[in-house]
Amino acid sequence: KENNVGVVGLTVMGKNLALNIEKRGYFVSVFNRTYQRTKDFLENEGQGKNFQGNEQIESFVASLAKPRVILLMVKAGQPTDATIDALLPHLEQGDILIDGGNTFYKDTIERNEKMNALGVHFIGTGISGGEEGALNGPSIMAGGSAEAYRHVEPLLTAISAKVDDEPCAAHTGPDGSGHYVKMVHNGIEYSDMQLISEIYFIMKNILKLSGSELHDVFAEWNKGELDSYLIEITADIFTKEDKEVPGTLLVDNILDTAAQKGTGKWSSQSALDLGVPQTMITESVYARFISALKNQRIKASKVLNGPEQPENAFDREELLESLRQALYFSKICSYAQGFAQMSAASEEYNWNLDYGNIAMIFRGGCIIRAQFLQKIKEAYDTDNNLDNLLLDPYFNKIANEYHPALRKVVSLAISHGIAVPTLSSALAYYDSYRSERLPANLLQAQRDYFGAHTYQRLDKEGSFHTEWQEK
Ligand code: NDP
Repeated sequence: KENNVGVVGLTVMGKNLALNIEKRGYFVSVFNRTYQRTKDFLENEGQGKNFQGNEQIESFVASLAKPRVILLMVKAGQPTDATIDALLPHLEQGDILIDGGNTFYKDTIERNEKMNALGVHFIGTGISGGEEGALNGPSIMAGGSAEAYRHVEPLLTAISAKVDDEPCAAHTGPDGSGHYVKMVHNGIEYSDMQLISEIYFIMKNILKLSGSELHDVFAEWNKGELDSYLIEITADIFTKEDKEVPGTLLVDNILDTAAQKGTGKWSSQSALDLGVPQTMITESVYARFISALKNQRIKASKVLNGPEQPENAFDREELLESLRQALYFSKICSYAQGFAQMSAASEEYNWNLDYGNIAMIFRGGCIIRAQFLQKIKEAYDTDNNLDNLLLDPYFNKIANEYHPALRKVVSLAISHGIAVPTLSSALAYYDSYRSERLPANLLQAQRDYFGAHTYQRLDKEGSFHTEWQEK
């Protein structure tokens, strides 16, 4: 059959991507380790459409035209290896495997090498947008050889989200680059969500806004600089009543313990390996960890004191505008860190990432889609070697105008004993990054004092050591 594609893995993501691919005019052959899932799919969502189900992996591979294009949507890690190992004996040189799972980028680098040696093309692609995106148009960040990408470009662009008719799918670069970009995307998603949550908590606990007021504020913010999917769904969340407890909002009855699947943690770990500051994603991961200590927090709340509640002498509208500015500016700091991290990884792995293009593919389909990504695209289109987003004229101007609001909001939260780890780390990052001098001179003196680690001087070249205890 012409124009056909194979999909392996028929849980939420694979199922919806298969439906999306079929909708674009492809004939889709499907396979799932447990056949019952394939059967269910063909009898329900897939019924009457251009799908072929296969119980055996051999018949699945045989059903595909050559060179075969197979999209894997299975659990990352060992299950992906197991699936590739099961497919490999039936594949031929020139076939193309696309791993669309949330795979760790180093695994993709390894698998890419292994497949290349066998003559099978391998593409590791980040696919973002969750269940809904998979069905109607996700954001797609594909890593692999340019040759392999050319083969699958029509497919990936056809199923991707579109913004102003431009597909939110692109070739990011070689091997693990697509999964790396997706990982940082997920990390940024963590900090975006945590920032919004900290701002919400201030509005709820200091401004004492009701659910409908919170809805109105977020809905209003969604019309301006903060226009984004996450602000939109946050506004929506404050309209959802709890059917279990009539008269209350569902969000107020949800246990305040956050779960995670690990991609935020991977981003932080990689930043530590690369030696670049990634404080905001890291604080967001820690915020989830501390939220999970619910039982300890209950105990601690009974014995550990916070500050005396200060007099609330603020103008409500003024504070709301400060909160908006603080949120936008912190978000910019988070993207500045995220893009600087991608740039360090690009250098480390020779990926030659195109940041304007990455901002473009984040603009639609994915969870962090936002209007302001256009500004990031413009910044990197002007200078792809920009050291830091904060140095671009647009972001520089926002930083200079909005940092007082962030200071005001962080001070207010601290004076009320409300933890704002990500907002305050945005400010610490900003103040460190803009400081010509930091106290690291003292660190170097200490290191040289106890460990003879040497230091450099401001006034001349070279390495120096001092016998600090010598009188
Ligand atoms: P899961 O991550 O739960 O993966 C389930 C699939 O993996 C099933 O097809 C399952 O087969 C297969 N599988 C599990 N273990 C093995 C194994 N040992 N050997 C072979 N196959 C195995 O499903 P999702 O649909 O949530 O996600 C699919 C991929 O997409 C994952 O990598 C995920 O990280 C990624 N992703 C998910 C998103 C989401 O919002 N859910 C968003 C973006 C990416 P079986 O039915 O036989 O158990």
